This record gives sequence, structure tokens and C-alpha cells, in this order.
Amino acid sequence: MAADFDGYVRVRGAREHNLKNVDVDIPRNALVVFTGVSGSGKSSLAFGTLYAEAQRRYLESVSPYARRLFHQMPVPEVDAVDGLPPAVALQQQRGTPTTRSSVGSVSTLSNSLRMLYSRAGDYPAGQELLYAESFSPNTPQGACPQCHGLGRVYEATERSMVPDDSLTIRERAVAAWPTAWHGQNLRDILVTLGYDVDTPWRDLPKKTRDWILFTDEQPTVPVYAGLTPAETKRALKRKETPSYHGTFTGARKYVLQTFAGTESALMKKRVAQYLVSMACPLCEGKRLRKEALSITFAGHDITEISRLSLRQLAQLLQPYAILKASKRHPEKAVVTQRIAADLLARLEVMLDLGLGYLNLERGTPTLSPGELQRLRLATQVRSSLFGVVYVLDEPSAGLHPADTEALLRALDRLKAAGNSLFVVEHALDVIRHADWIVDVGPKAGQHGGQVLYSGKPAGLKAVKESRTAHYLFGEAQAAARAPRAPSAWLKLRGVVRNNLQGLDADIPLGVLAGVSGVSGSGKSSLVSQALIQLVQAQLGQPVAAEPAESTEDLLDSADAGELQGQIVAGMESLRRLVQVDQKPIGRTPRSNLATYTGLFDHVRKLFAATRAARAKHFDAGRFSFNVAKGRCPHCSGEGFVMVELLFLPSVYTPCPECEGARYNPQTLAVRYRDHNIAEVLAMTVDAAWEFFEDVPPLRHALDVLRAVGLGYLRLGQPATELSGGEAQRIKLATELQRASRGDTLYVLDEPTTGLHPSDIDLLLQQLHGLVDAGNSVVVVEHNVQVLADCDWLLDVGPGAGEEGGQIVASGTPSAVAKNKASRTAPYLRRALG
Ligand code: ADP
Ligand code: ADP
Ligand code: ZN
Ligand code: ZN
Repeated sequence: MAADFDGYVRVRGAREHNLKNVDVDIPRNALVVFTGVSGSGKSSLAFGTLYAEAQRRYLESVSPYARRLFHQMPVPEVDAVDGLPPAVALQQQRGTPTTRSSVGSVSTLSNSLRMLYSRAGDYPAGQELLYAESFSPNTPQGACPQCHGLGRVYEATERSMVPDDSLTIRERAVAAWPTAWHGQNLRDILVTLGYDVDTPWRDLPKKTRDWILFTDEQPTVPVYAGLTPAETKRALKRKETPSYHGTFTGARKYVLQTFAGTESALMKKRVAQYLVSMACPLCEGKRLRKEALSITFAGHDITEISRLSLRQLAQLLQPYAILKASKRHPEKAVVTQRIAADLLARLEVMLDLGLGYLNLERGTPTLSPGELQRLRLATQVRSSLFGVVYVLDEPSAGLHPADTEALLRALDRLKAAGNSLFVVEHALDVIRHADWIVDVGPKAGQHGGQVLYSGKPAGLKAVKESRTAHYLFGEAQAAARAPRAPSAWLKLRGVVRNNLQGLDADIPLGVLAGVSGVSGSGKSSLVSQALIQLVQAQLGQPVAAEPAESTEDLLDSADAGELQGQIVAGMESLRRLVQVDQKPIGRTPRSNLATYTGLFDHVRKLFAATRAARAKHFDAGRFSFNVAKGRCPHCSGEGFVMVELLFLPSVYTPCPECEGARYNPQTLAVRYRDHNIAEVLAMTVDAAWEFFEDVPPLRHALDVLRAVGLGYLRLGQPATELSGGEAQRIKLATELQRASRGDTLYVLDEPTTGLHPSDIDLLLQQLHGLVDAGNSVVVVEHNVQVLADCDWLLDVGPGAGEEGGQIVASGTPSAVAKNKASRTAPYLRRALG
């Protein structure tokens, strides 16, 4: 064993997920990269085994109370791990994080900035010194009293509550009011009170309209149900006994009370549509009390400074990081210099990692997983921990090749500080930089799970079975393919979104089009936001505006910002828009590969058509584990039961009744070609492909799954066990089997995340298939293997944030490769050979 490393981590008998009793020795104090095709078991080894084991040991040493604060990994399946330092995971979080954090809070830069304002800010005369907490919108001392630090308030206005003012009250002009009995009750109360419920809303006097909508009074009056206004008048005069007494509630009061108080998600959604959000009038959206906002540094209040891009912030702080002698305030000068220098050093790491276009206020839910991971990485680089192992998941995701070099510098700094780095990665630039490679494979799922190679990079070349070796040491795979010519152009004009300021862009149709550019240049703003929403609007597909479920949701939709722009040509050749993203295909184990793709419907019909099923009158529904009649009653068709442990993560165990089969014995007694329904769900796609050889529709669906490289997945594999890359390919396969009619625009945002170069080749074949069938494909990408194989490229930039947002180059890959202004060009030239 090589002696140039400072000891080894020894893993014996690792069997997590698909790992096949793996033994491997991995050096400490080194950059170790785990490689292999998607699904081969890299994450199962790096995260599922090494990180999980390090966390388990650490948690044993902390109190049960503290343990609950951790997101605990399951205990790994492994015989022994020796020599393992404490570990920090910088994993990519897919899906939305639940807490409302920002770039400033995750990086802790906001804390330092508050200290700076508290101790070294310019105070107006008479304003006493404020503590750092007074500059935080999340503390009672700091938060604006009107919006409670949210910066926005939610109001119910006449327009939002009365969407159609030509209606009368009887015709439900006040749409915000409850429906059914309660709504009728409120109307009857208005009748008793003498209001006219049969005149169009807009013809009622303003005073009346205001009272009905905005009053806080809640009078209780007699109600005569079922009587006309005239009859009611008479009944009141004669003091007849009313049907009951009813209490009035103004429409705004009803909406606000229900939104704040209801337990029902449905009710909350219903009333949320009558609320509009606006900047808080008191703090003007700055979230803080007036006193805090009166204190400035370099002429800015703390909210203004938090809205500068990190690059501008660094420039602003630069002069303060040098100590200036001050006779009047010597202490303040020292404090200013210390804090500014510390902030500046931490900002520089973030700029180096290509994050200079972000600002401190930016909410983490609007960051891509790759940006968030680099933000955490930047925070760690300055944290001066040593002797730990950082476990990272594809840190190059979302990074332009020009930015990857900075990433490698950051990793080197962590290593130089005495740490170990275990990195799961596909990008060849990162793999080449490794001190040590652990190559897992040879293929995915049950055909993988072995360590093919563990050693210094050069030695991998001799490993014939390794797909990684093929790409790492193979010649540049230049596609000697003549690019297709666009059949039409989708012309976007005057696009305004984030850093796009009135951009005109011509998107080629009938080809595979790639959109490139450094991180933050505006690719997603152009493609995943503007293009999608504008095309959707033209096609008449509703722009998916999910109803808000909470104040946070409302805030996030406000964060999305405004969109302007129009499509002036090209729509005539499009009839459908499909966005294929990496979002999970389901959050519960009830959704799986077979249900999502729709092929399970067909399988259930086959079972229902067997003689045994017909004899017992079992229909297709009987064979669904989501329907009560056929499933195991003990686990409700889940196949496992959850055992809650007070201070430990809940554990799942196979259901003792059905032993994980999910169905009841009567259902399992039905066999199709000697297999019951549970046995079919346990088959891999490859096995099912042979089993259903003579069932053309199933065979077709399974063919497509195999073609995108998912032959190793089980039909019943729960959605919760699939990676983002697997989910995306399932979506793509589902689309592909819907025999394309040749008029669809497919949009993909970084489809290569999580994919090995050999998986990328499979993906490219599929995308070309879509184009050959007459469709258009637009991909946002960094991967040059993909960009070089596109028919047409749009390079966005030149820089990030305010320095981007333009189309720098547009043309075939070889034409863009010659463009002097494009930062993508040098990498394209290399790939094109
Ligand atoms: P890689 O990181 O190489 O892409 P993974 O380690 O994520 O591969 O997956 C290896 C295999 O384990 C795949 O077949 C995958 O479907 C399976 N797998 C991943 N996560 C789980 C899980 N939570 N439960 C069961 N199987 C899983
Ligand atoms: P790319 O896809 O090229 O990495 P983006 O389109 O995501 O770039 O971002 C372009 C610019 O718009 C950046 O300055 C980014 O910070 C900003 N931006 C993106 N999304 C949002 C958002 N939800 N809110 C505010 N700014 C955003
Ligand atoms: Zn406010
Ligand atoms: Zn059961």
C-alpha cells in the first residue's frame, strides 16, 4: 500500500442497498473521488455507508435530546469501518428545504454584518447604541412591528374579494365569503340590516360596499330564512319570531381570520386566493424597525447593503479592511477593520466559487441545489475545522467548466487544512484532479455494487470493465455529425426576468438546441422561467400557480419576480410543451416506477383477465395496493410498518402479515403465468421485458425504460428510493412512449446532473430520437459532451448576474467555438477536437 497518505479508512463487508459485501481501503487527507455509472452504488458507499457510520458514532456521544435535532441517516449495513474521522456531509438537497433561510443566514455573513452595524455603524444624533439582534428581522427587537419582519403584508382588497362587480350580492358578488349555508346566512343578515342584495355590486354606494367588506363590527340580528327582502321587512316590523339569530362578519375579517386560524389546508387555500401581497407600508419591505434602518454604513442601511450582489459588497468593504488611524474613535476604527477584513475574506471564497452574483437576502429555496452546496462549501472553507472528512455529492453540478477550476481550488484548500474529501462526481475535470479514485460498477443496481478499482488515477486505465476508464482515458469522442438545420424560429421579444432586461432571443425549432453560459448568467431565467411561461400562456395551458398553503408559500411566489415579454413568431408549429425536470416523481412509497409510467394499469388488467380472477369477480382495481379490497389490511398496502422510537429515527420493518408483499392472500392467490402480482412488482425492468415478451404495449413501455438505462430498476421500486437523475429519466421514458406527434417542445434544465458519461450518451440518443420524430428540444447545460452534440447553441452571458443576461453567441457548436467573447468557446474547441 502506498505510503504517501496519512493512514486509511478501512471498510469491510459493506452491503448497503446494492453493495456486494464490499471491502475497500480509502486514504485520509486526500481528495478521493467515487466514480461509476448512475445507480452503480457510489452514493450507497460514500453517503449510505461512510457518512452514515461517521454520523452514527458521533450521535452516540451526544445526548438523546440533541440527537433529535439531526436529520439521522439509517444505520448502515456494514461489518466494520476503521480509521474513520468525524464527517460533514455537503449533500445536495433536492426538493424545497422547509426552513426559510437566506444566503446571509446560511453563510453566517448576516451575523457579522449586524455586528458591524451595531458596533461600527453611523448613528444619527440622539439614537442610542443598538445590539446586533436589533438588526435582525427574525428577532422581536428588530422586526418591523407591522409585518413582523416579513417585509410584506397580506391584504384583502375590494378587487381581490369581489372579482366580478357586475354581480349582485345574491349572485355571490363577494366571492371571498364562505359558500353553502354560512354564505347564505351572511346574505340573510344583510337583508335584515336593510342592504340591497339584488343590485349589481358596482352600483351600490361606496359606504355600503366598504362596510360589507371591511367593517370590524359583528352585529347579531334576527334572521328570517327563506323570506324575500320585502317579507323580511314586514316580519321585522311585526316583531315576528325569527328563524334564528345570526352574527355578521365582514369579508376581510372572515378571510384574514380563516387564513390565520383554520386547521384545514383546503380552507386555507380557498381564502388565500382572495389575499394580495404588497410591500409593507411601514418598513417599505425592509423588514426592520425604523431605528435599525436609521443606522448606516458607507451610506447604506443594512437592508440596502444586503441587497448588493456579493461582488459589489466585497468592493464596498475593501477600503474598510485596511486599518485607518482615527484619533476621535480609535476603538471603532479597530472594530471596523476587524469585521470588514473577516467579511471580505469569507466573501472572496464565495466569489471564487462563482457565487458573486447572489446577494445576502436571496432566499435559499430559490437557489439551485448546486448553488446551495457551493454556498455551504464556501462557509466550510473558512471554518478552520481540521481532521474531518467532507462528503460531497457532485459539487460540479450547475457549474460552467470555467467555474470548476475555482471549485477545485476550494477543495484543495480544505485538504491543505488537514481534512479528507470524499466526493461523488461524474465531471471528468474533477475526476482528473483526484488523488485517489474508487470506481464502482460495473453497471447499475444489482449489476453493480462492486469496487472495480481503488487507487491512484493512472492505475484505472488498466481496468477493462470500467466505464469510467473508457471516458477518462479514451480519445475525445467528437461527434462527426452534420448539425440539423432549424425548421423554424421561436422569437421571444422584450423578456424581463431576474437579470434579463428586455432580452430578444430566437430559439431554433426542429433541432436539439443547447443553452450554455456561466452559472448565474441567466440560462434558467430565459429557458425554465420565461420560455416555459410564455409558451404555456400561448398554448392556453394555465401557468401553474400552486395555491399558497402558508405565508411562506405566498412569500416565495412573490420572490419569483415579474415576467415581461412576448412571443412574436414560431408558435404555429408547436402544440404541446413538456418540461422534464429532476423533481421527485412522488413523495410516498405508494408511487413507484410502474404506477408513474402507467404500465401498472396494463399489468393489472392482465391479472383481472385471468380465469381465476374472473371466477372470483376480481376487477383490475383489486390488484392495486392503493385500493382497500385487494391490499393487505395490516399495512394498508405499504408492505412495511413504521416503528416509532422516541429518540432514534423511526425504523421501517417489513409488514408481519404480508411479509412485504402488500396484498392480501386472496389477491396473491391469482397468478398470471405462474407469478402473483407481488412477484411481478419485484421484477426488474429487464426481467419484466422478457416476461411480457408477447404483450406489445408493455414490451414497448419497458423497451423505452431500458433505452434510457433503467433496466436495473424494479417495477415496484418506491419513488422515494429513486435519485433525481433516475426520476428524470423515468419522466423522459414516460414521454417517449407516448408516441410523439412531432409538434412538441421539450425543455430540460441540466439533464446530466447525476449521470455518468456513458449514461449521458444514452440520454443524447433519446433526445436525438425526439428531434428525429419532428419535435424540438431545448436543454440548459454545462456539460460539453452534450453541448458539442447539439445542432445549435445559444451562449448566455458574458458574466453572471448584472454582467450577464445577454446572448453572447448563437450558432452551430463549431461556429460558437470560434467566438472570442464566449466563455464556453475554449471548452467547446477542446471537445470538438
Ligand atoms: P449511484 O450513487 O452510483 O448513482 P446509488 O448508491 O444511489 O447509486 O444507488 C445504488 C442502487 O441502490 C440503485 O439500484 C438504487 O436504485 C438503489 N437505492 C438507492 N437508494 C436506495 C434506498 N433508499 N433504498 C433501496 N435502494 C436504494
Ligand atoms: P443560470 O441559470 O444561468 O445559472 P439564473 O437564470 O438562475 O442563471 O440566474 C440569473 C440571475 O438571476 C442571477 O443573478 C440570479 O441571482 C438571479 N435570480 C435567479 N432566480 C432568482 C430569484 N428567484 N429571485 C431573485 N433573483 C434570481
Ligand atoms: Zn414592515
Ligand atoms: Zn402487509
